[in-house]
Amino acid sequence: MILPVSDETPICSAKGCRTGAVWVLAWNNPKLHTPDRRKTWLACEEHREHLSQFLGVRGFLKDVVTLEEWQRGAGSGSAADG
Ligand SMILES: [Zn+2]
Repeated sequence: MILPVSDETPICSAKGCRTGAVWVLAWNNPKLHTPDRRKTWLACEEHREHLSQFLGVRGFLKDVVTLEEWQRGAGSGSAADG
């Protein structure tokens, strides 16, 4: 599994936010990660734009998909670490 989820609702990655996530932001830092590696952040509706801008300005952002879509198998192969 990619997301550290058991039977709980995944929570938004924004600092201090406790809202259930609906978006998955897939990103990659070319200085730290191999090109096919994907790190993921979760975001609620409110923080999706903020978080994707944060990653976008750094050139890290690769994909923004709904959590549902992601869990259906949009991403494969990477481990959830960090
Ligand atoms: Zn949030």
